[in-house]
Amino acid sequence: MPVNSSTMVLAGLEAELGWVADTYMQLHRRPELSFQEQETSKLVDEKLTSFGYSTIRLGTTGVVGIFSNGSGPTVMSRADMDALPVTEATGLNYASEVDGVMHACGHDVHVSALLGAAKLMADGRGAWSGTYIALFQPAEEIGGGSKAMVDDGLAAKVPRPDVVLAQHVMLLPAGTLATTAGPVLSAADSLRITVHGRGAHGSMPHMSVDPVVLAASIVLKLQTVVARETKPGEFAVVTVGALNAGTTSNIIPDRATMLVNVRSYNGQVRAGVLAAIERIARGECAASGSPREPDFEYFDQFPLTDNDAAVTARVSAAFTAHFAPEAVTTAERQTASEDFGRIPEAFGAPYTYWLLGGCDPQAYATAAANGTTSRDIPANHSPFFAPLVEPTLSTGVQALVVAAMAYLGTHA
Ligand code: ZN
Ligand code: ZN
Repeated sequence: MPVNSSTMVLAGLEAELGWVADTYMQLHRRPELSFQEQETSKLVDEKLTSFGYSTIRLGTTGVVGIFSNGSGPTVMSRADMDALPVTEATGLNYASEVDGVMHACGHDVHVSALLGAAKLMADGRGAWSGTYIALFQPAEEIGGGSKAMVDDGLAAKVPRPDVVLAQHVMLLPAGTLATTAGPVLSAADSLRITVHGRGAHGSMPHMSVDPVVLAASIVLKLQTVVARETKPGEFAVVTVGALNAGTTSNIIPDRATMLVNVRSYNGQVRAGVLAAIERIARGECAASGSPREPDFEYFDQFPLTDNDAAVTARVSAAFTAHFAPEAVTTAERQTASEDFGRIPEAFGAPYTYWLLGGCDPQAYATAAANGTTSRDIPANHSPFFAPLVEPTLSTGVQALVVAAMAYLGTHA
């Protein structure tokens, strides 16, 4: 019965694909940066309202559409809406018309696919019962959009979902999906470390506490956090992306700053790595006679995306039953990060987040055979990033419907 009921909802798919593709191209032409998704959220709100959803605006430009359809479970699906400060170089006839802004991460795919699924769920209401929620969040790229919606009262204003679903277009052949239980995207933390020295003339080092030497020893010592303190086989990345001090050769400055990026898949590893970074910075400051404790300022933090095992198994089984089995593969863990997890976390709800193929299957197969995928296939955030419109959109719409119906269609 679950398979039959999702087939009933998807019976109208062909008729919807035209406007879904038009919406995709319209969004692609008019990309909007993080927290500036005014036109996008207006379009989303109007469409959801016309499909019969009641809508709520949250977190600047976030939109939540709620479709109540009798008793049963509540399923929430989420799409992100923001574009990137990238100048598009694809040459597509629907390329960005906004200077220096581009949908280079496929969030336009996510929005149009979720609108398509929302329409099908509304029109196919006879095949299921429960509540379907379509959530459109701003500002994923800067890690602030989901938090803005949560801080604006998401959990109080929207019914608690039993399960939350999300997808992201990635470097996989179009028409395929990839799922995995457990961590699929890393947690990310950025921190600014400022260490203090004592400035002096470059010719009189004995009068100084040199923050350049101090910072250099911290950078080297930080290389041991993963190599010597993290259990082999556990994943962690510590990158010092910026190191700044001083202005010229004959002045010893009074401070140095480092920008450090940390990635992890495990809360304990994350806590251990962050504690080690602070301990090393304090220790090196003490060793050099620094006159003040170092300052630590955290920014751009993303939670772990950690797929629930039971939800992932149920959704993956529904995908395999609906799509050709070879179209559903196991996702590799990505070192990238997402702020999606804060939405299910606000409700204490389990979730799964899957990867949606967007590459020309022929080009992908050729590049994979030559071992040149990373060179030949433009990745997310590239100015050449160009998901194949079909079958990417229809696969994304079907995946959202099939995953939701794995919960909503089982009552009959
Ligand atoms: Zn992105
Ligand atoms: Zn993205």
